[in-house]
Amino acid sequence: MLDIEKIRTDFPILSTEVYGFPLVYLDNGATTQKPRCVLDRIIHAYENENGNIHRGVHYLSEIATDHHEKARSRVARFIGAEDSAEIVFTRGTTESVNLVARTLPDVICKPGDEILVTGMEHHSNTVPWQIACERLGLKLRVIPVLDNGELDYSSLNNLLSAKTKIVACTAISNVLGTINNLEPIVAGAHAVGAYVLVDCAQAIAHTHIDVKALNADFIAFSGHKVYAPNGIGVLWGRRALLEMMPPFMGGGEMIDHVTFDKTTYNKLPYKFEAGTPDYIGSRALAEAFDYIERVGFDDIIEHEHNLLDYAIHQIASVNGVRQIGTAAHRSGILSFVVDGIHPYDIGTMLDKLGIAVRTGHHCAEPLIDRFSVPGTVRVSFAMYNTMSEIDTFIKGLDRVLTILR
Ligand code: PMP
Repeated sequence: MLDIEKIRTDFPILSTEVYGFPLVYLDNGATTQKPRCVLDRIIHAYENENGNIHRGVHYLSEIATDHHEKARSRVARFIGAEDSAEIVFTRGTTESVNLVARTLPDVICKPGDEILVTGMEHHSNTVPWQIACERLGLKLRVIPVLDNGELDYSSLNNLLSAKTKIVACTAISNVLGTINNLEPIVAGAHAVGAYVLVDCAQAIAHTHIDVKALNADFIAFSGHKVYAPNGIGVLWGRRALLEMMPPFMGGGEMIDHVTFDKTTYNKLPYKFEAGTPDYIGSRALAEAFDYIERVGFDDIIEHEHNLLDYAIHQIASVNGVRQIGTAAHRSGILSFVVDGIHPYDIGTMLDKLGIAVRTGHHCAEPLIDRFSVPGTVRVSFAMYNTMSEIDTFIKGLDRVLTILR
């Protein structure tokens, strides 16, 4: 069992008041709040250990380099990767996906080949592939989403073929909370010789990700969704593929030798880390993973599961609420609409009661169109949320709906 009251004292922002009400932060799918230890780690680094990494011979540069590389190993351990050179630090999920979409298709695709995504992807796991399709004459195909918010796995047989080169799929939907069954997708893709990228932006904080068990070829996630700062993210990829891919960006650190006639590139992972990386963010990410494991990841997952079950149960009694996404396996996210009332109005009025939720298309417009709604109201949980916050939210929602009606 988690000691939630103790956990809440670790997150300074949770004692904020909003318009005179205690903050009820239910927008964790957009970004999570940061525990004191992560904030302290950043301040400590800038106060004591700040020097640009890799190219200095002086003390501060060496110590900063050491922390950055230790953070890489820490990240590898958190996701079960054996080779820390397969961990590329990026700015976040979006950059990680773009890195792959801008480089891999160039070496494995020919015009007419196909890239398969799902109907529930965040724009950052759709648009980079659309750009690749336009650039290289490829076709984008889509795994449909069923009415309950699960993927239509029965479509895989028809969609996967020798033409499929890359499959890009989210582990957990940021709109519906659906936990996808990645096994048939990965196995099916590999059976036709395609590579798989899994968007773990939502999954990284709410499920165990083990790259060996997952057996995908790339995973992408952002630090800010897992109690770490903004601006640091990760791409994990299989060494053989990362070796085969050309550089994504040119600049310092990614080179081996530069002349005006020819430039050769650095070894992994530096080939993909052009310029000064966020070497303070990387250690803050490592600290966030330490924190999660100190608290107990299994207990966090169970707690968030209980929160979701409770919220689903409680919201069912609110008149007029229609949940969008009722998949059998869901994690930490509840989306709903109230017919005749715009989600934006609900979100804005909840805010006036100190309750932070997200409204709109959640950067997944095709999915929102699929459900023929103008957007949803989304509540999303983290380890520090409580049942009593759900009660406050439900009471607030009741009140807001009474006023809006
Ligand atoms: N994929 C999913 C499933 C997400 O939820 C998000 C963030 N909402 C992203 C990708 C993009 O993450 P970022 O903006 O941190 O790059």
